[in-house]
Amino acid sequence: MKITDIKSFVIRAGLPVSYPHPTASYVADGAIFLEIHTDEGIIGFGEPGPYGGKLEDIQKEIADLLKNIFIGKDPFQVSLLTVQLENLGIPAYGNTPRQAALAGISQALWDIVGKSVGIPVYRLINQTGEVKTKIRAYASGGMYYEHEPTELFVEEAILAKEQGYTAWKLRPQTPVTASHFERNKHPPKVDIPGMVKILEDVRLAVGSGMDLMVDLGCRLVTVDDALDFAIRVEDLDLLFIEEPIPRILVDYVQLIQRSPVPIAGGECFVSRHQFLEWLPALDILQPDCNLAGMTEAKHVLQCAQQEGKGCILHNWTNDINCAANLHLAASSVSCVMVESNTTCNPLRSHLVIEPFVPIDGFFHMNDKPGLGIEIDRDRITTQ
Ligand SMILES: [Mg+2]
Repeated sequence: MKITDIKSFVIRAGLPVSYPHPTASYVADGAIFLEIHTDEGIIGFGEPGPYGGKLEDIQKEIADLLKNIFIGKDPFQVSLLTVQLENLGIPAYGNTPRQAALAGISQALWDIVGKSVGIPVYRLINQTGEVKTKIRAYASGGMYYEHEPTELFVEEAILAKEQGYTAWKLRPQTPVTASHFERNKHPPKVDIPGMVKILEDVRLAVGSGMDLMVDLGCRLVTVDDALDFAIRVEDLDLLFIEEPIPRILVDYVQLIQRSPVPIAGGECFVSRHQFLEWLPALDILQPDCNLAGMTEAKHVLQCAQQEGKGCILHNWTNDINCAANLHLAASSVSCVMVESNTTCNPLRSHLVIEPFVPIDGFFHMNDKPGLGIEIDRDRITTQ
């Protein structure tokens, strides 16, 4: 089989104008997906991370560079993705729009191989039969503007519990101005006592039977700030604190040695090499197929298993990438849970036919070949 074309599409959500709460930045700015076509008529789908850079830069990487490399190649060489590129003298890692595109290509190649042999990707990755057919999901929301009432966090956590979730994650108050990328460059200060109070209120409301987590989005400044926060929330029995400080390796190495609460991170990493470097700096690894790609993330999960590290997949974008993450999680014993984005996203359930949606707090795998999804061409508008 030979690859004949790679096409990429930008999709936009069309949010209701009056929507009062923050959304993931790709809901307003647009997301991207790709198709790999083959000479046997099989089409594979992939979703590059919209956080890999400007969507037009990701599309340009595909159109100007990657398409020329992959056309004519055999999709069954999927596991050689990195090696192929390095042999061609093109560094696979270090350019984030390119990496986002490669991650999408990696998903689509696995999809094609699965479809070609008639096997779901999770059973292809792990052929021992020791796969999971249901995967624990955590509700990932708790995203409100700084001026909104803090009771909203409590109401949402209770709703998640009523929906059957056994774990819920929240974020600090979102500033009205500043995009995701600006917030990353210049993190707005977090009101630490206010944040601790919200977590205390939520714990009181949901009781002890629910796991709680907080994603600080690198918004605290120093290791001491993060330790101060961790000590203040120690008694609330949080499952983890995600990315409390900027992504500086030596700081995280210090932090996990002293923090009473486990520290999670890795959503922005693009390769197994980065995760290996960060193993001494994180308690819980959070790879995501939309930046790491399926092949690299598969190696990260194997490494986590060997090193005894917990792995909870980051999974914040749309239905194609969600499917890729779930197939990976289903194939691995080291992945204990997958994120389920519960914030408002009209793209969810519109991009693919029969998307993976958690029921009673669990994602359920199906036996369809490949990633088990098809694009809903009647319902999406691309450009
Ligand atoms: Mg995060």
